[in-house]
Amino acid sequence: MLNRIKIVLVGTTHSGNIGSSARAMKTMGLSELVLVNPQASIDGKAMALAAGAGDILQQAQQVDTLQEAIADCALVVATSARQRGLDWPTLNPREAGQKLVSTSQEQAVAIVFGRESSGLSNEELQFSDYHVVIDANPQYSSLNLSQAVQLLSYEVRMAYLEHQKEPLPEPLPYPLHEDLEKFYTHLESSLLSSGFIVKNHPGQIMSKLRRLFQRARPEVAELNILRGILSSIDKLSRK
Ligand code: SAH
Repeated sequence: MLNRIKIVLVGTTHSGNIGSSARAMKTMGLSELVLVNPQASIDGKAMALAAGAGDILQQAQQVDTLQEAIADCALVVATSARQRGLDWPTLNPREAGQKLVSTSQEQAVAIVFGRESSGLSNEELQFSDYHVVIDANPQYSSLNLSQAVQLLSYEVRMAYLEHQKEPLPEPLPYPLHEDLEKFYTHLESSLLSSGFIVKNHPGQIMSKLRRLFQRARPEVAELNILRGILSSIDKLSRK
């Protein structure tokens, strides 16, 4: 299960933070590290701060986009030091740990962390099912990246140990993020051809619809129905 829980670091600028994050993960039994477009390399500093967790750095996957990193995941939570006015479904770290562990019984999941200077962009935050905010001092709420990784990894471990004692119920199968993205692309193109979205003035419609569907969290069968509905609308638009 713990092998199905990925830690995704987006655009990290300090190699030391990559190393410390690997150490934070390994102490909690996590091993899957994915670096999205890192702005630092795995250098001596990263290796030094990883201490005995150099193996995690060596196995770390590197990809260009967040979408690639989470394509095979059925649950994605994105961490953010503050609410960005997106009004997304939000969990605290404990609830996130439980949901991640529950889903990881059957499917891959990810916890996403942002850049040291600017966190995750609104676009990146909208790829996630939930946001996680560590309820820190409101006057000084931004933790060091690897310390945020430590805290979330600890909550995952606590939920995992709890699950060993008292197994969580079997989770429902949720669509993979690549299938969700295909759905959003299909939805947008159907709404463009029906004329509901005006090409040069798309407004906030897609972002609002994303929020609606992320809140509902359609299951695999439900997403298939929605795709079917879109195909039937496409047929009408072509007539
Ligand atoms: N200045 C940035 C903070 C970046 S801290 C901002 O305002 O968004 C680097 C990363 O650590 C964040 O992107 C997030 O992934 C994590 N992090 C730091 N503090 C956090 C908190 N209080 N809650 C959740 N994640 C946090």
